[in-house]
Amino acid sequence: MFVDVAKIRVKAGDGGAGAVSFHREKYVAAGGPDGGDGGKGGDVVFQVDTNLSTLVDFQYKRKYVAQNGENGRNKRCSGKSAPDLVIKVPKGTLIRDAQTGRVLADLSSDKPAVLARGGKGGWGNAHFATPTRQIPRFSKPGVPGESCELQLELKLLADVGLVGFPNVGKSTLVSVVSDAKPVIANYHFTTLSPVLGVVKVEEGSSFVMADIPGLIEGASEGIGLGHEFLRHVDRCRLIVHVVDVSGMEGREPREDFAAIHFELRNFSPELADRPQIVAGNKCDLAAPEQVEAFRQFVEQQGYAFFPISAATRQGISPLIYEIANRLKELPPVKEYEPEPIPLEERVPKNSRSFTVRKEDGVYIVEADWFMKAFGMVDPDDYESLQYFQRVIREVGIIDKLEEMGIQEGDTVSIMDFDFDYIR
Ligand code: GDP
Ligand code: MG
Repeated sequence: MFVDVAKIRVKAGDGGAGAVSFHREKYVAAGGPDGGDGGKGGDVVFQVDTNLSTLVDFQYKRKYVAQNGENGRNKRCSGKSAPDLVIKVPKGTLIRDAQTGRVLADLSSDKPAVLARGGKGGWGNAHFATPTRQIPRFSKPGVPGESCELQLELKLLADVGLVGFPNVGKSTLVSVVSDAKPVIANYHFTTLSPVLGVVKVEEGSSFVMADIPGLIEGASEGIGLGHEFLRHVDRCRLIVHVVDVSGMEGREPREDFAAIHFELRNFSPELADRPQIVAGNKCDLAAPEQVEAFRQFVEQQGYAFFPISAATRQGISPLIYEIANRLKELPPVKEYEPEPIPLEERVPKNSRSFTVRKEDGVYIVEADWFMKAFGMVDPDDYESLQYFQRVIREVGIIDKLEEMGIQEGDTVSIMDFDFDYIR
């Protein structure tokens, strides 16, 4: 079964609790605190696996939970951090927040994406000992891991997408130009799942062509097959519209052409305006006048026309070279940018309290909601850092620091970040 959408729940591991314990040894009186810190909970990480081609696994398993960090122990033993939970997805999987529909990650490359962060472990009491507080009888619990509901959507990565009515010869075309072996048969909807084929143009030059199940009228309104497959053309750089010019099934090529355009536009105007080439197939069965009439019709509408016969391979080479040439000029395959979730949504206005204390000249800022607001901050990423700066100003942390007399160059510590205060 081909499955290209799924909804799952993920939860990262909780941080382990810090321990409360005191050093004990024979003949040694009143040992100091030696409770270790808790370990970090595992992250939930998504990674591309090129052996996968559908999201079918997620039909059966819908909940993914990473392990919790271990609790701290005595003798200053830290709890073990939990391993990350790695979820494998096919290349081209788009991950959205299920509630808002926002894009969180596009798994189009080998780069893994962390979608839920494991909580940090809590400090053990050994951490809290100070000259004036020699017997801390407390430790900190671990921070809970993030959890969220995710919508997965497979959007294939192909340079060229074939669209057209069922039975016009799309699968045949892919099979003669590439290494792919799609099912070919003389009945509608033999192709029930998209097939990708690599087309080698000449030494060192190739492109990926996607055979997509046929569209039928009304597909974009969800009637019958087709609509759900249009998402796979969504990223294509070029569309090759295959039309049966022979009209052998009692069809009229011009009507077919118009119907497919209507469906594309209904689904996405952007897709309808994507660069497009028209391939008139089954020329071996058509009278030359028929082909010429259709060519005029297509060219009048501003599209390049290529008469072909996938069965006899007539006209295939010129089509392939034209595709390769057009691709050289076109922008690369579309990748989705993650959409940042506004602070208002992550942390409601009334729960943005924080504390600031000064220890050894360092300003330590703490709040429970930091994890939610900054969980995804990447200190090496400029935009991420800007967001971070905006938030700490917005919630009043900067004002508070200035009130406490912070000076240029003093160190501020928030979660894992230490930075120098600059006005
Ligand atoms: P799809 O549904 O668009 O993928 O169409 P298929 O590739 O499965 O082809 C449908 C039928 O048309 C099959 O029986 C093919 O053998 C036949 N066919 C495909 N291309 C040609 C062609 O150029 N000439 C002729 N005569 N038949 C073709
Ligand atoms: Mg087919």
